[in-house]
Amino acid sequence: MTAKETLAAWLRDAHAMEGQAITLLETQIERLDSYPEALPQLKRHLEETKTQRSDVEQCLADLGEDTSLLKDATMKLGANLQGMMHAASSDEVLKHAIGSNAFENFEAGCYRSLVAAAEQAGEPKIAATCKRIMDQEVDMAHWVWDQLPQLTQKYMAREEQGLAAKR
Ligand code: MG
Ligand code: FE
Repeated sequence: MTAKETLAAWLRDAHAMEGQAITLLETQIERLDSYPEALPQLKRHLEETKTQRSDVEQCLADLGEDTSLLKDATMKLGANLQGMMHAASSDEVLKHAIGSNAFENFEAGCYRSLVAAAEQAGEPKIAATCKRIMDQEVDMAHWVWDQLPQLTQKYMAREEQGLAAKR
């Protein structure tokens, strides 16, 4: 495989990953009734993620790739996380947040690798796009990380008051 072909294959993976990210964020937003303070950031990252997915698609188009077949790609890690996130338990929101911590860091790592791949393939414009997306994933990963202690303690306080969300 040429460097450009390898880059294209990884960009296809990233495109599928962003599709999973959209599903995961939409699921979280739906089930977050008890923690409205987290909604603005999740909604902001959902919009950001939709832009990321179309930006990755543009990168593929710039490489001369056929983008019409992108939709049926699936992402194994994403599927696993999604399974984890469908677990029905009262601490589901917390489990989602821990899953998000893994997912956002995974995304950040993918784009860090993609930046290097694009540079290696002589594609500075794609490298710049991947760097921009990487920075967004790092910011989101930090935000999720920062939320975990207070989310945990808020959940425990609600449990003690018998107010924990049913799901
Ligand atoms: Mg993303
Ligand atoms: Fe993300």
